[in-house]
Amino acid sequence: MTRSAVAQGRPAPVINGDTEFFWEAAADRKLVAQCCSACRVLRHPPGPACPQCHSFDWEVVELSGRGTLFSFTVVHHPPVPGFDGPAIVVVVELEEGTRFVSNMTDVDPDTLKIGEPLEVFFVDQVEGWTAPQFRRPAEPSSGVAT
Ligand SMILES: [Zn+2]
Repeated sequence: MTRSAVAQGRPAPVINGDTEFFWEAAADRKLVAQCCSACRVLRHPPGPACPQCHSFDWEVVELSGRGTLFSFTVVHHPPVPGFDGPAIVVVVELEEGTRFVSNMTDVDPDTLKIGEPLEVFFVDQVEGWTAPQFRRPAEPSSGVAT
């Protein structure tokens, strides 16, 4: 199975003062989220204030990138720019307890199972940004380093 680490033509994210840290971390191959400094709730997508306690104080925490498939949908129409064929939009329940909307490629959506393990990887975009994306973890029994 070919897993391209480069893509082109996908809709670019809006990067502003609230989201810049996230995209800079993605370019460094790190999945991060905001953590409220007051009540310690993780949140994603990034925003200026905590939805739980309304504090404006937050810090960045690095996440493991491991989680499970919480939900997914397959977008057949309209076509999504930058994807070959239908786009598979996934909601991943990260092991730290927050959820993350992303996508998967190179997988038959008919084989996806709610609750199956997924892991993040990073796809560089020709346009100069990096997208976190999810895939099934490599089989641990192969014994072959990748
Ligand atoms: Zn809070």
